[in-house]
Amino acid sequence: MPPALSSDRMRFPELDPERRYGMIIGGMAAQAADGAVFRCFDPFEESEWGYVPEASAEDVDRAVRAARSAQPAWAATSPFERLRYFQRWAGLVREHATEIARIQVHENGKTLREMAGATGTIANAIELCAHYATMMHGETVTPAVPGHHAWTTRVPVGVVAAITPWNNPILLLGWKLFPALAAGNAVIVKPSEVTPVSTIRLVELAVEAGFPPGVISVVTGAGAAGAALVEHPGVDKIGFTGSTATGRLIARSAAGRLIRTTLELGGKGANIVFADADLDRAVQGIVVGITAGAGQACNAGSRVLVHQDVKDEVVTRLTRALAALPLGDPLDSDTAVGPLASRPQFAKVCGYLGAADAEPSTRLLAGGRHGAEPLGMAHGLFVEPTVYETADPRSRLRREEIFGPVGSLVSFSSDDEAVQIANESEYGLVGGLWTRDLGRARQVSERLDVGVVWINTWRAFSWNMPFGGRKSSGVGHETGVDMFDEYTHVKAYWLGPDED
Ligand code: ADP
Repeated sequence: MPPALSSDRMRFPELDPERRYGMIIGGMAAQAADGAVFRCFDPFEESEWGYVPEASAEDVDRAVRAARSAQPAWAATSPFERLRYFQRWAGLVREHATEIARIQVHENGKTLREMAGATGTIANAIELCAHYATMMHGETVTPAVPGHHAWTTRVPVGVVAAITPWNNPILLLGWKLFPALAAGNAVIVKPSEVTPVSTIRLVELAVEAGFPPGVISVVTGAGAAGAALVEHPGVDKIGFTGSTATGRLIARSAAGRLIRTTLELGGKGANIVFADADLDRAVQGIVVGITAGAGQACNAGSRVLVHQDVKDEVVTRLTRALAALPLGDPLDSDTAVGPLASRPQFAKVCGYLGAADAEPSTRLLAGGRHGAEPLGMAHGLFVEPTVYETADPRSRLRREEIFGPVGSLVSFSSDDEAVQIANESEYGLVGGLWTRDLGRARQVSERLDVGVVWINTWRAFSWNMPFGGRKSSGVGHETGVDMFDEYTHVKAYWLGPDED
């Protein structure tokens, strides 16, 4: 049995390693009907903490029933009334932002700097989405049929299931939860089994803010709980972020019932450095692309494409920059790279490093060590930031999403070749390029088959810009000024001519 999480490292009283957390169903804390629980895992200490209910289909059914009965009255409130709930909630989230950020660090091992940065936007985003819903509107249309009036309204889809991953649990939940709720839907959240407590805390604050019972629920558990929610006939829409494999399962199930999905899935972002780039900034961008969140990010820049004229220079600078990054306790402010989130994730990433060593055309350029002893760490789930040169397009490192601090580097000789390599991926989420030539920036960015392009930057995000992918990276997009499209139906009304 793993050791208990040392309480001195918790360093704040809200997180009791022995606490039994509750799901939230009908506005109340709830245990699983059959009493099943699972434990959270702190990946830095490799120790367990907390007890979280493992929901069965019966618990999921309770949550869906509560949501169904709460949703019509919630949808009947005006957006201005809903805004007041959101404002109270945002105030509480502001007070508890550090606590929620720290819980995430204990769940997924990402640095406090990163989790606090993401969570720091949450209170503002709650308010932004609710304000924005006050301006949601339909259209008045001049129809082709003489004498008729025609207009549209936007109506909530009903009960939304939000199924979220562990790598940025609160931010990625907010992308679904805030617009869905603000538009008048009831939402049932199924957080990842790796990161359930941060979501429970966020929704406990919503209960404290007075949201009507059933409007927001949390069911906890692993894939079986998620599948029970996806298959429940009372769910009208699924917002999902996670792996492409699970996204495909969800899409299949949703197709059977003809319900809508928003799917934000894997990525294999190409970060392209042209010979005319500002190399200082480009190398910084490559470092961020490979190492942010220890590479456990769908928006990672895990493919580095470098023009052959600057390849040696970029490799020299990149190797130096990566070697200088401190690995360590993710709660410490000077740590740049924390552990991987779980033992299975660590094993998966190490498997890729082993596979790379067996590929004859693949050459290690930087890093490659992993585990406690080789890295001189007291704890074990660390992978050193690593870059391989992958000349062969069939290389698994070049094709597959690794979700660790591992980059694959390849050189190119022309703009056309850079575009061709960037688009060879089955994924199409994010891509980036570094150049001083504005014409090239525009032309290349338009040819990249991705949902988000970063030019002379990497990982920029704003709640009023859309985020979503193409190909195996998903369906639909989140955030941005169209955020309500995914959580409303457009309804058309016709009024016939007046009587003579
Ligand atoms: P990862 O491999 O990164 O954990 P997953 O796609 O497995 O990504 O998990 C993302 C979310 O989907 C988690 O909340 C997980 O519990 C949930 N999940 C896993 N399998 C299923 C499934 N078959 N149906 C619905 N949700 C699922």
